[in-house]
Amino acid sequence: MTCLFCQIADGTQPADIVYNDDDVIGFRDINPQAPQHVLFIPRRHVGTINDFDSADAALIGRLTLAAQHYAGEQGFDEEGYRVVMNCNRMAGQTVYHVHLHLLAGRPLHWPPG
Ligand code: 5GP
Ligand code: ZN
Repeated sequence: MTCLFCQIADGTQPADIVYNDDDVIGFRDINPQAPQHVLFIPRRHVGTINDFDSADAALIGRLTLAAQHYAGEQGFDEEGYRVVMNCNRMAGQTVYHVHLHLLAGRPLHWPPG
């Protein structure tokens, strides 16, 4: 199976990586929707949120903590940011390796489109 984000995680596909730990990497979205748009992914392949189980609770938390860490490091944590995970077709998921979007740097409207 060829998975684009697994290839980014293993270094065979280039990406602008801005965050790295044992379980999670973060890299800039190729088509940014805000001045700051970073994707945080588990290094291990997980297709959609539906594929998580209770053993993944810590990993799910680490995705959010990675985003929090990056926001603090970049200094937009107090101004604000949004994290989003799209699951399947109706939510607009296009890459089937779970990823948490971090968006910041402009006012973000609600509800989203
Ligand atoms: P989704 O719509 O699945 O929630 O988000 C997938 C995201 O991956 C999109 O925002 C898209 O721009 C981004 N993306 C797709 N292909 C690549 C790529 O090759 N490199 C990077 N850095 N981002 C990608
Ligand atoms: Zn994958």
